[in-house]
Amino acid sequence: MKTLFKGGRILDPSQELDIFGSVMVEDGQVVEIGPEVDERGLDEIYSCNGLWITPGLVDMHVHLREPGQEKRETIKTGTQAAAAGGFTNICCMPNTTPPLDNSALIDFILDKAASPDAGGIFVSPVGALTHKNQGQTVADLSSLKRAGIVAASDDGNPTQNSLVMARAMEFCHQLDLPVLVHCEDTALSAGTSMNDGATAAMLGLKGMPRSAEEIMVMRNCVLAMNTGCDIHILRVSTWGGVEMVRQFKHLGAPVTCEVCPHHFFFTDEAVGEFDPNFKTTPPLRTEVDIDIILQALQDGTIDCIASDHSPYAPFEVEVPFDQAPFGMAGLESAVAATLTALTDKGILSPLETVRKLSTRPAEILRLDAGTLKPGGTPVAQVTLIDPHVEWTYDVQRTFSKGKNSPFHGINFQGKAVLTYCGNEVYRDPRFSNERFETPSF
Ligand SMILES: [Zn+2]
Repeated sequence: MKTLFKGGRILDPSQELDIFGSVMVEDGQVVEIGPEVDERGLDEIYSCNGLWITPGLVDMHVHLREPGQEKRETIKTGTQAAAAGGFTNICCMPNTTPPLDNSALIDFILDKAASPDAGGIFVSPVGALTHKNQGQTVADLSSLKRAGIVAASDDGNPTQNSLVMARAMEFCHQLDLPVLVHCEDTALSAGTSMNDGATAAMLGLKGMPRSAEEIMVMRNCVLAMNTGCDIHILRVSTWGGVEMVRQFKHLGAPVTCEVCPHHFFFTDEAVGEFDPNFKTTPPLRTEVDIDIILQALQDGTIDCIASDHSPYAPFEVEVPFDQAPFGMAGLESAVAATLTALTDKGILSPLETVRKLSTRPAEILRLDAGTLKPGGTPVAQVTLIDPHVEWTYDVQRTFSKGKNSPFHGINFQGKAVLTYCGNEVYRDPRFSNERFETPSF
């Protein structure tokens, strides 16, 4: 089986490649890439005129909710949503019910993700850092690693005890496992529901101080320096947090970080209508924070963009703001929000955009992803992006069960229109290609 992605703008940061050309896939693997490729014996062609041809996108921060929270999402619906969002590899977080703290649960996730009725993409599980995500004793990380986890985290229930965190980092360093850290001092954030500032005061809501995030960014960077463990700061949101990451990188700390689209798309003023779809942790911040986040995306302090896809069932979100859960669905809006807010505005070049959505997260987690090099991944992963298409995001048309999105009704510019992971796993209805029943030569 020979498939050609023909005549598009190839953007592959793993080869620093930004050229017009074609990508050939044979029997599920990339075999040739360049301005001219051998077109003999083709079975199918995707005409990529006006499109970007990129390595399959990677979302390193997703909550699939299964096992135990299937009213919010399942592995099937979550992977379908990921494919529709342009992702061929996603990392699922361990704060399920029960949490992913033993190898049987990792087997369960990998089996379900590989089943024929799932979305056809790769799921890379993140194991619990501590037993039951309770922050008391370190989980059995070596057996989790053998079962296939790519990182460890207590995301959603961040480890407060610094001694436990230091021990966990020592173990992870020995196992060459990155630790993904949600930075929140829960004593400082208790009872809060949005950013501490003028909007919170006006609405009469208790605000979450920036210090709740920044103290833990500092602590986790210090522990990474001391233990040598690779840490990745999940969704940094304050200018102070970004500056700390910049300084610790300068000092040689093994730290990387990400930002979520909602943190550069909206400020805390968006909460003004008490809309629970704008409630997340860390909370939406201010213009000053966004300015520093944009600079940090440009200079590489922020390594990647991740969705923190956090779907909830409608009944959970249809409650007063201060009682609503924290989090937003994001798999199907992340790429378009990034293209609209960053690429179209010239803040990130197309190549840098793809680096943050594919190559860099794959590097951080040592995934077989993020490249179009011939033979570079066991299974070819390709995403086609139309950078020009204008469309309106509608949560009723998403694959995810979670309709809790702040992007509903937003006009986007740009979209992933085809996702290929060994074979076609998603196609936008507007996209068509040519198929051949017999070889063309
Ligand atoms: Zn999360």
